[in-house]
Amino acid sequence: MNFPALFVSHGSPMLAIERTPAAQFLAGLAKALPRPRAILAVSAHWESAAPMLNAVERNETIHDFLGFPSPLYALHYPAPGDAALASDIAERLHAAGFPAGIDTTRGLDHGAWVPLLLAWPDADIPTLQLSVQTRLGPRHAFAIGRALAPLRAQGVLVLGSGSFTHDLRRFRGQSLDAPESLDVTAFSDWMDAAILRRDTEALLAYRALAPHAVDEHPTEEHLLPLFTALGAGGEGAARRLHRSTEYGVLRMDAYGFGLAA
Ligand code: ZN
Repeated sequence: MNFPALFVSHGSPMLAIERTPAAQFLAGLAKALPRPRAILAVSAHWESAAPMLNAVERNETIHDFLGFPSPLYALHYPAPGDAALASDIAERLHAAGFPAGIDTTRGLDHGAWVPLLLAWPDADIPTLQLSVQTRLGPRHAFAIGRALAPLRAQGVLVLGSGSFTHDLRRFRGQSLDAPESLDVTAFSDWMDAAILRRDTEALLAYRALAPHAVDEHPTEEHLLPLFTALGAGGEGAARRLHRSTEYGVLRMDAYGFGLAA
């Protein structure tokens, strides 16, 4: 079978220890899918000029956040890597015209390991990460996804991890259950409608077309993994798998792309 490609929102690192609706959704993800042969996480927290893949024997856990409670720094996700798969993916990207590189030291950042710790807590599935190229925007991220689409038939789960909305300027000082801002709702509704009607061109132009797009994503890195999942999903159906809001401004929505009809 073809695996769907997924986009999940990782929100704040506190997701790893808070029993929020988004955390509970992720905790149920493994039951909703066959077991992947490998997971390719595309996280907003690894930005590079050209696509980079990590190829390690066992992933280090990168605690790439400051000022959070100490239990978060005690969490680890030592999933094995898959160097052969990393080479295979790099070759695919080269063939599609992308100068992909391999990083033989980097582990998993929190955009990758926090959702994976919730979904597959045993950390026993080979896992690798692919970086995002923020300066190259949605069309590039989508094209990368297109090049990754054949991996789905090999049992590889392409997992984009970002945040459906991500205005951190308004995040600090908010309570976890603060009411959702109206602009967050307007942007999310627009995106959801475009995703469900598979309007790829509108989505790729979201920054000009969607209401409050630049407010919700002052920088684009947390939305770009969605475009990679969209591209990897190919022509199959798209579905919202989860919807919730944290801190009034972080939409925690998740989508599946390339789903069987
Ligand atoms: Zn993040």
